[in-house]
Amino acid sequence: MATITREKFDNIIEIKNVTKVFDGITAVDNVNLAVRRGEFVTLLGPSGCGKTTLLRMIAGFEMPTSGSIFLEKQDVTTVPPHLRPINTVFQKYALFPHLNVFKNIAFGLKLKRIPTGELDKKGRPIYRKFTKDEIAEKVERVLKLVNLEAYGHRGITGLSGGQQQRVAIARAIVCEPKVLLLDEPLGALDLKMRKEMQSELAAMHKNIGITFIYVTHDQEEALTMSDKVVVMTDGAVQQYGTPKKIYDEPANAFVADFIGESNILSGVMKKDFLVEFCGTEFKCMDKGFGKDEKVDLVVRPEDIAINAKSGALKGEVVSTVFKGTYYEMEIMTGDYQFTVQNTVEFTPGQTVWLSVEPDGIHIMKKLKTVNEYVGEIISENTVRLCGGDFEFMPGETVYERGDEVKVKIPFDKIELTDDETDGVIGANVTQTLYKGSYYQVQVYTDDDNDFFIDTVDEWDIGDRVGIRIDPKDLTVEKTANEGGAVADTVADTEVWDGE
Ligand code: ATP
Repeated sequence: MATITREKFDNIIEIKNVTKVFDGITAVDNVNLAVRRGEFVTLLGPSGCGKTTLLRMIAGFEMPTSGSIFLEKQDVTTVPPHLRPINTVFQKYALFPHLNVFKNIAFGLKLKRIPTGELDKKGRPIYRKFTKDEIAEKVERVLKLVNLEAYGHRGITGLSGGQQQRVAIARAIVCEPKVLLLDEPLGALDLKMRKEMQSELAAMHKNIGITFIYVTHDQEEALTMSDKVVVMTDGAVQQYGTPKKIYDEPANAFVADFIGESNILSGVMKKDFLVEFCGTEFKCMDKGFGKDEKVDLVVRPEDIAINAKSGALKGEVVSTVFKGTYYEMEIMTGDYQFTVQNTVEFTPGQTVWLSVEPDGIHIMKKLKTVNEYVGEIISENTVRLCGGDFEFMPGETVYERGDEVKVKIPFDKIELTDDETDGVIGANVTQTLYKGSYYQVQVYTDDDNDFFIDTVDEWDIGDRVGIRIDPKDLTVEKTANEGGAVADTVADTEVWDGE
């Protein structure tokens, strides 16, 4: 019994500091993730955020540029796909059209060799094929799991898209992988079939008990099916948690925006448990922010109370749409337009009042993931950005003088110097925030750009500093506007800054 409990809470997969770079593009950026045995984990994020690349590295179809992948505590980073106890279901079913359903599912089993438990004269394990009866029994069992019991003899081409995808899933699970990877497996189905298959897949996962790692860009699908959701953007994990946690307590404005309907605003924490937004102070449940710290905050449409008599914010109804069980209304209050959901309808033009209870407001740190700027190539290893010339390590890409490039510098790779002449450019400290084990310092350069720096040194607001960056810590990439005009403006990487 003790073993079962331990196994249940074991991490079956551990991804440690995994990065994948394709031709200078970082598809997956230092991802760390642990998946527990038997969980249904979904990788969720917008197109191009690196979900498929991460999945393909777990499967073994891609090798990480750096970092390691562990399966049941064994490092499998360089193990080829066919030697990993992992199977993948793709969006395109890739079934054999000339074989019937039974034979499609049996295909992998026929190739498989299993140890007999005996050893040959040299002490090597002896393998055998599955018998016909064993194959029939296994195929029948999975046909039942995917609700296709009577379909074994049917041809593939006559099946609906949903049925074909069920055959593909049956084929993937019949060999009893420890982990099943599913890459947008319902993407090719129409909406009705997709909904049906979602609940079937969730039920199937419960019945089989193997670990599922599922990729989708559909947040509703992710929230309804998964035990845990990994929200990704720009190759990085923004949040990993249960659907409820991610919905109720988004880690940042990007997650809040991506998951569910939300009103995201900029606000200022006046003090613990008191935030100001839309020119009004609201009680909230959050504390530990700096006094007058700018924050992002999210208020879900269903958490806003609306009535015609009194409340915290006065507004006017802009539009109203009936959504089946509630009305979704757009309410203009000053400069901000709130989305509000309520079972009572208020009509366009009507004056209304909005209120929010403290637990309906969720405060988040401002989101910014990396310092990113547009620069100009000055020489083969020098780039001009924010009014200074910084050396970088060119790598294999050939640049020409005048090329416009995107330059990224992680927060923890910028050195602030006491004496500004020791730095390449000068700046003033505008904000400093203690984050448990380090300070996040914001500086404003003489060239009117912001830099964020993670440092163990304490700086004071108003300090004059120099900025130095080790050449190896500047990531320089060509922009689409290659060879274009000089640009020294900031391309701020805040995915959403609430302004
Ligand atoms: P989608 O939902 O559109 O499939 P995704 O989140 O799965 O997107 P990926 O397919 O992992 O994203 O791609 C992440 C980034 O890596 C993209 O910029 C993509 O163009 C790039 N990329 C992926 N595979 C390759 C490759 N083989 N060669 C070059 N670039 C690649």
